[in-house]
This record gives sequence, C-alpha cells and structure tokens, in this order.
Amino acid sequence: MPNIVKKTTIVSLFDLLAPHSCRGCGRTGNPLCGRCKKYILKNHQNYCPNCKAKNPTGNCKTCRDLPAIFVVDERNSLIGELIYDLKFNSNRSLVYPLAEILDSILPTINGRVIIVPLPTNTKHVRARGLDHTLLIAKKLARIRGKNYQVEKILVRKINTVQVGSSAKERERQASSAYKINKKAKMNKDATYILLDDIWTTGASMKSALKKLRQAGAKKLIIAVLAVNSLN
Ligand SMILES: [Zn+2]
Ligand SMILES: [Zn+2]
Repeated sequence: MPNIVKKTTIVSLFDLLAPHSCRGCGRTGNPLCGRCKKYILKNHQNYCPNCKAKNPTGNCKTCRDLPAIFVVDERNSLIGELIYDLKFNSNRSLVYPLAEILDSILPTINGRVIIVPLPTNTKHVRARGLDHTLLIAKKLARIRGKNYQVEKILVRKINTVQVGSSAKERERQASSAYKINKKAKMNKDATYILLDDIWTTGASMKSALKKLRQAGAKKLIIAVLAVNSLN
C-alpha cells in the first residue's frame, strides 16, 4: 500500500498558535518540512485510481480508455491532511508544497502544456475565499516553466452542492458536471493536464476527460493529489 504518513488527527491549540508548523511532524517553520516531503516522495508509488492496480508508468494496462494517470497517495494520508487544511482552513501556505510534490511525481513533458483545473463549486470558492485546485495549478505552472500555462477550459454546468446528497446522486451529477468554456481555444498539439485534488468515484474526472476529448484535445494526462481509497 502507498500509505505514507498516516493521517494524524492532532489538530490542537498547537496548530492555532503555530500555523506554520509542519502538518506531518509538527516541527515549526514550514507547512511541510523537508523531511516529511522527502518521506512522501520516497514512499510514493503510482496507483491507478480507477482499478487500484499498481501503475508505475502512469498508463494503466487495464483502464485503456483513460490516459496516463498520476496520483500522489490515498486521502487517508498526509497528502489528504494537507488538502483538507488548504481547502477548509484556507491555509494558502500549502499551495506551494502541494505543487512541488506534483512537480516531482509528474513526467517531463515537452512542448506546450496546458493545465486544466477541475472547477470548484463557485459557492465553495466564495465561502472559502480561495479555489485550491486553481491555486495549485498556477503554482505548478510557475514551477515547471514557460511552456506551461493554466487555462480554465472547463466550467461547471450547475453549481450543485454535493455535500449531503446520496452517493448515487453525486455520481449522476458528477458524470455530466462540466462543459467547455465558450472562450476556450483548443490547441491540438498541446498536452493537457487535467488536475484535481481528490478522486472519489472518478465520475467528475471522466466527465472532464470526455469534454476535453470532444473539444479536440489529443494529448491528455490526469494528475490527482489523492485517491479516496486504494482498497
Ligand atoms: Zn515534518
Ligand atoms: Zn486502472
């Protein structure tokens, strides 16, 4: 299993007093210390979030309808903790370390690369004051260099709130969640990286993938920070 640092639930007064303590070990100074980051990368193994099989090259032998997929870890790990803190506590200091981790696990891609963040519900963005996936996408593009750019090609059809609805209903909503932004101009020579924070059922990502393919994207890659469960 690629379980790296098991999720700790020690959200204490300590965290409130020292917001820049490492989310992995509590050491002060950095939201993710060098040692914990190294640990994540050293133990990283790529899995296919769709069939849960080991997927060292990114191209799953079973899920041939999907492009190359890269995942950092399970949700129940330090990565999951970092995403949670960024999303729900608006801890922006985690954008950079998360982008750095993605940079480390993604392959080198030559030519024009367009990162497409999966759109966050606008109500959530307003409530939280940030769009975590968009922020990570932008930071990743900065780290990777000038052949990378972020384009908000996908838009949500309806801003349905998924929280509380049944799993089946959520899946139904997610499978037709997106459409292509009218202003988007597709580049058939570019590699598109579809980026999301968490792969739950995969329905959102598959909807996004379908739309991008229909719009004319030829080269695609999927990048996900965490998968709900690898069991
Ligand atoms: Zn640490
Ligand atoms: Zn697979």
